[in-house]
Amino acid sequence: MPTDKLLLDSVRDYIVQIREEGMDGLPTTQRPIVIDKPTSSVAAPPAQAVASVALFSKYPGLEKTDDLPALQTFIGNCTRCKLHGGRTNLVFGVGDPTAELMFVGEGPGADEDAKGEPFVGRAGQLLTDIIERGMGMQRAEVYICNVVKCRPPGNRNPETDEVESCEPFLLRQIEIVKPRVIVGLGTFAVQSVLKVKTPISKLRGNWHEVRGIKMMPTFHPAYLLRNPSDKRLVWSDIQEVMRFLGRQIPGRARP
Ligand code: URA
Repeated sequence: MPTDKLLLDSVRDYIVQIREEGMDGLPTTQRPIVIDKPTSSVAAPPAQAVASVALFSKYPGLEKTDDLPALQTFIGNCTRCKLHGGRTNLVFGVGDPTAELMFVGEGPGADEDAKGEPFVGRAGQLLTDIIERGMGMQRAEVYICNVVKCRPPGNRNPETDEVESCEPFLLRQIEIVKPRVIVGLGTFAVQSVLKVKTPISKLRGNWHEVRGIKMMPTFHPAYLLRNPSDKRLVWSDIQEVMRFLGRQIPGRARP
C-alpha cells in the first residue's frame, strides 16, 4: 500500500477512535485542534475533559492522580528531562491544596533547590512580603509552585523540552487545586503558561485565562529586587486580584 494511503488510514482510524472515546479534538499538549463540532444530540464533552485527555496522553496514569500527594508520588524521583541531573531536590510546590490563589514562578533557584520549597530565597522573601504584608494573607493560605520543578543549571531559563516535560504536572496541579486566580510571576512563567511571546510589560495588569481559570501576569519578585520602582505596578496588579477575590485591600503600607 502506498505510504500516503497508509498514513491517511491510520489518521482516519485515530479520529474514529478518539470520537468513540467522546472527544471532539485531537489530544495535544496545548489546545486541542477541533476537528468538527458534533451536530448530533450527543453532548460534546466539557472543555475541561478534552483538555485533560490532551494533558494526560503524555503520561498515562496522570489522570488518576486526584490529589497533590498522589501527583507528587506520580512524579516521583523524576528523570523525565535532563534537569534531574543537576538538582538536589525536586521542588514540587507548597501551600493550601484548596487555595483560591495560586502563584506560578519560573523554576527553582539555588535556595529552593537546597530546601525543596519554592520561593524561599531573596525573591521568595519579597513574594512572602507581597502575600503577607501586602495582601494581608498567610503564605500557607495560597499555593506556590513553578513551571519547572527542577533547578536549571546556573539559573538559566528552562529549555523548551524541559518545560514540555514538566507542563502536564503544572497543569495537573492547577486542575487539582482549582484556584480562582493564578498570578503568573515574570516573563518566563507567564509566556510558558499562556504560550505567547508578548513581553510581560504588555501582559501584566490584564486578565488572561488558563484552562478556564483567571490569570493575572505580573513582574517576577527577582525583577522587583533590581527595579524597586516597578513595585507600584505589581501592587496595582495585586489589588486587581484582591478585588476579583472579594478580599479587603489592607490599608497599611505596601511591601
Ligand atoms: N524564582 C522562581 O521563579 N521560582 C522560585 O521558586 C524561586 C525563584
